[in-house]
Amino acid sequence: MQVHKYDVVIVGAGGAGMRAAIEAGQRSRTAVLTKIYPTRSHTGAAQGGMCAALANVEEDNWEWHTFDTIKGGDYLVDQDAAEVMAKEAIDAVLDLEKMGLPFNRTPEGRIDQRRFGGHTRDHGKSPVRRACYAADRTGHMILQTLYQNCVKHNVEFYNEYYVLDLIMTEVDGVRRPSGVVSYDLASGEIHVFQAKSIVFASGGCGKIFKTTSNAHTLTGDGMAIALRSGLPLEDMEFVQFHPTGLAGLGILVSEAARGEGGILRNSEGERFMERYAPTIKDLAPRDIVARSMANEVREGRGCGPNKDYVLLDLTHLEPAHIDAKLPDITEFARTYLGVEPYTEPVPVFPTAHYAMGGIPTNIEAEVFRNSEETIPGLYAAGEVACVSVHGSNRLGTNSLLDINVFGRRAGIQAAQYAATAEFLPIPDDATERTEALLELMRSGHGEEKVGVLRKELQDVMDADMQVFRTAKTIHSALDKIAELEDRYTRIAIQDQGKRFNLDLLEAVELGFLLELAKVMAVAALHREESRGGHFREDFPDRDDENFMKHSMAYLDPEAETDSVAGIRLETKPVIFTRYEPMERKY
Ligand SMILES: Cc1cc2nc3c(=O)[nH]c(=O)nc-3n(C[C@H](O)[C@H](O)[C@H](O)COP(=O)(O)OP(=O)(O)OC[C@H]3O[C@@H](n4cnc5c(N)ncnc54)[C@H](O)[C@@H]3O)c2cc1C
Repeated sequence: MQVHKYDVVIVGAGGAGMRAAIEAGQRSRTAVLTKIYPTRSHTGAAQGGMCAALANVEEDNWEWHTFDTIKGGDYLVDQDAAEVMAKEAIDAVLDLEKMGLPFNRTPEGRIDQRRFGGHTRDHGKSPVRRACYAADRTGHMILQTLYQNCVKHNVEFYNEYYVLDLIMTEVDGVRRPSGVVSYDLASGEIHVFQAKSIVFASGGCGKIFKTTSNAHTLTGDGMAIALRSGLPLEDMEFVQFHPTGLAGLGILVSEAARGEGGILRNSEGERFMERYAPTIKDLAPRDIVARSMANEVREGRGCGPNKDYVLLDLTHLEPAHIDAKLPDITEFARTYLGVEPYTEPVPVFPTAHYAMGGIPTNIEAEVFRNSEETIPGLYAAGEVACVSVHGSNRLGTNSLLDINVFGRRAGIQAAQYAATAEFLPIPDDATERTEALLELMRSGHGEEKVGVLRKELQDVMDADMQVFRTAKTIHSALDKIAELEDRYTRIAIQDQGKRFNLDLLEAVELGFLLELAKVMAVAALHREESRGGHFREDFPDRDDENFMKHSMAYLDPEAETDSVAGIRLETKPVIFTRYEPMERKY
């Protein structure tokens, strides 16, 4: 076992991790651990844009942006966080520009902006142009720009190092983070990283679902590690289903397609969003559009041989405009569905896209150990975290913003804390849990296969935990998860080697997915209301009296949450500043 010592250790090299590293790297000795090569992180797949009220092409201000974010999140947003994000958005975009990011420009040379769902002028009057973009490769440009700047600031990267555990050291009866345990894919060796500050920026968990826009690696590792270390996860019942995944595949077609004028139509050729959101139509927030699409299909107005998708119509746009603004996503339609977007509408259906929940933090990115107290030296930012700036439904382009604003804050806070803190001793048994886990996976002689179990989990989550949920479907998902957890104890992996053993790590990742799926289902069962991305057909209304609060889920062997053993649910108040909850109409 090797031990490394850094002031700040950052887990994850996506947008959040690298934005944090740029700040921490200028102030302290910083290492970034990442399970994939940094520029392969999912941030690089982001397409449509990053919003900020620059008002470059029309009137706009950060207060309207704050309001849209809070209303978009169906009032479960912590309003202090939304204010910080909307205010700091402007500098976040300008910082990236100064670092070298090639944004699209207006003819006058200013950063161009386009429309996106839920972003409006003057509290919902009409769509506003707020998203800054680089064609439909905005995330790619952000990731490359941040990586280059990390290199400039001497950030040290440990690529293909999988973090598998958080080390806690007891100080005066309180458990405090002192490092992480990681597995080096190339050698199969365990490395311990001792650190004064640790930042989790390990991204989302979309691979819980079968139909998803997320990359193969998004298995919620950071969330599951936090949970296993006794920390809570906040608002895990809220998953965003993006309206426009390529039908049957889930590959994303950015909302920028509708921002640039694309229209959704049912089998009758009707622009059905006019019925569901009369003011902003196809540019309503994602939860509303996704549910409307699913409803059209349910009521028999779906398209195709099985009537199971709707159409995204771009045929009225000029081909030159499509090529300039939406080159990649239209190419996806050609490549994967054989559809020519210039002349044919594109088959689309909702796809699991984003986890609104995650590791709870305050606006300084400090992690909560319970509903009141934070833990010194532990931070989280990006999709792994829940600040909670997206509440129960995130607006498009607010995540690339979130990772920049709260990634930056996490990096600054982590370095400031490390400047005065001491290293905590690493306990002798720090790697025991990880070694036992790996040994269990390696020595299994059972008949179960990782790929089979993962597929069965994803199938049941698609069937029972998607856009529409009821107590019955959630119980069905929980029963299946319990069965899969049992079978997981009897898995066997084929590769017994030490080097590049992805078989082994996929087995570990499956354990993370199963645990998170269970937390998601338990939290969904207990939220007997419909809000944002969580729609309960048996409780179709929002219930502010009983459920205007965040859920906090803990692993607890003693706990019995209804019939589900091992998960304890508590709550945390929503932070209000200026906005009273209103009916959510668009
Ligand atoms: C197809 C697609 C398009 C999108 N388009 C947009 C858009 O236009 N606008 C917008 O605002 N949002 C968009 N999003 C959402 C947004 O891109 C993501 O939410 C955001 O980029 C997440 O950034 P992150 O830094 O938190 O995580 P990621 O970029 O996912 O990075 C996670 C990092 O953590 C590392 N990691 C994970 N587990 C471990 C482990 N166990 N050990 C070590 N390292 C680990 C990975 O190696 C990786 O470096 C899109 C998402 C997708 C999937």
